[in-house]
Amino acid sequence: MIVSRTPASTQKRCLSWRAAGETIALVPTMGALHEGHASLIRAARTRADKVVVSIFVNPAQFGPAEDFKEYPRTFAADRKLCTQCGADMIFAPAPDALYAPDHSTWVEETALSRFLCGARRPGHFRGVCTVVLKLFAVCQPHVALFGQKDAQQCLVIQRMVRDLNLPVRIAVCPIVRDEDGLALSSRNRYLSAEQRRSALALSRSLRDARRAHASGMPLGRIRRMIEREIAAAPGAKIDYVSIVDEETLAEITHSRKGQSILIALAVYFGNARLIDNIRLTGR
Ligand code: AMP
Repeated sequence: MIVSRTPASTQKRCLSWRAAGETIALVPTMGALHEGHASLIRAARTRADKVVVSIFVNPAQFGPAEDFKEYPRTFAADRKLCTQCGADMIFAPAPDALYAPDHSTWVEETALSRFLCGARRPGHFRGVCTVVLKLFAVCQPHVALFGQKDAQQCLVIQRMVRDLNLPVRIAVCPIVRDEDGLALSSRNRYLSAEQRRSALALSRSLRDARRAHASGMPLGRIRRMIEREIAAAPGAKIDYVSIVDEETLAEITHSRKGQSILIALAVYFGNARLIDNIRLTGR
């Protein structure tokens, strides 16, 4: 497996693969890889001749008070996992290799980014869209794989690809969870044993919400039920709990039959901000 450190060498290699008629799948990550990332890399392996995993903690998507400095960096273990999952190349640039000191071009999606995490993390999706477009330009993928764990990110990227006519397919892979239900996340490393136990309230409340929706409970009551359940977990501080239309990401209190609904939440445990979500169909 190749480890490539510069955009120029990576682009050169990817263009030569393309010229030889080989298809390329890209899995963008920030490293500290876990089984969730592994599932994307394995899915990529089944979809293209060459699999590229990018590992880059993107400064542009972190707010000034966020965890850019603390974000776990575990390159040796990441490299091992990429090899085991059958990746052909890791693209792992240094921050100054991807952004020139006078970088001044940004990609902004202006509708879906206003809601959920976008409302709580100003500039976050601008940073995400910019880096993903740059990764597409460098790695030239035919297909790029993203996790449903970051539901809003998937929708924003799909919108960017549509709006900018980018010649890349977006594949969305299911959320991988620990046996007890906690969605895998690089940020789970920040949790103490007690916080980790408490954090089970996230997936539990979403499972309860699914049952409540199936038995006909109105969405407004479901949202309050989730908030109560999470607020009762020791150490939890809710950032948001939102029930939205999956097409627009606008908040809803009532659903139409067949409507795609997303319940998304973000909760702090100490400095760790965890997100989770489920999709439902309107009844
Ligand atoms: P990150 O390294 O956290 O930026 O994530 C890189 C990619 O892995 C994103 O597309 C995430 O949605 C995806 N991902 C992260 N955690 C999970 C998970 N538990 N299940 C599935 N995909 C995930």
